[in-house]
Amino acid sequence: MNFSSKLLENAVAEFAKLPGVGQKTALRLVLHLLNQDKEEVERFGSAVTKLRNEILYCSVCNNISDHVVCEICSSNKRDQATICIVEDTRDVMAIENTNQFTGVYHVLGGLISPMDGVGPADLDIDSLVARVASGGTKEVIFALSATMEGDTTIFYLNKRLKDFNISISTIARGIAFGGELEYVDEITLGRSIATRVPYENSLSR
Ligand SMILES: [Zn+2]
Repeated sequence: MNFSSKLLENAVAEFAKLPGVGQKTALRLVLHLLNQDKEEVERFGSAVTKLRNEILYCSVCNNISDHVVCEICSSNKRDQATICIVEDTRDVMAIENTNQFTGVYHVLGGLISPMDGVGPADLDIDSLVARVASGGTKEVIFALSATMEGDTTIFYLNKRLKDFNISISTIARGIAFGGELEYVDEITLGRSIATRVPYENSLSR
């Protein structure tokens, strides 16, 4: 692309770094911003900068939060003894949207993937084990995608958690999942949490 302005070129280059945004889309977005009021663009820029600078990760569950301990972990309406283990914050949002789960979460921040060089130490697994080891947990529920990475992660976590006196269950898998939890419709996801099965039983099927 030949740009008439270096400023334009730089802005387009930054937008084009975003996932799923090509040069053409980036140019369209930048030109759109140019047509907005300066205040509007100011708000846009500051929302992005503030997000990056001020966001916190809950010290208990590792979910994205505005507070040191997130609203779910600090709520007395939530069953703190039941921990649902998910890959990232999108899964928390998807499960919260079902209104079917009253426990708490633990966000791993990814899945074990030897192919991509992601090992257990790259994820928030030690903090989960420490959380369970500190007592008070009755059940952990694996709500990870039905992919090779999801399976590997569950297998590893089960090994780390099975000697604690807790039940370990997994949401019904193998239903039309499409891999990613966030794409499952709310009714299916809600039902699969309600009808979760002990992890050991899920292996024999
Ligand atoms: Zn939390």
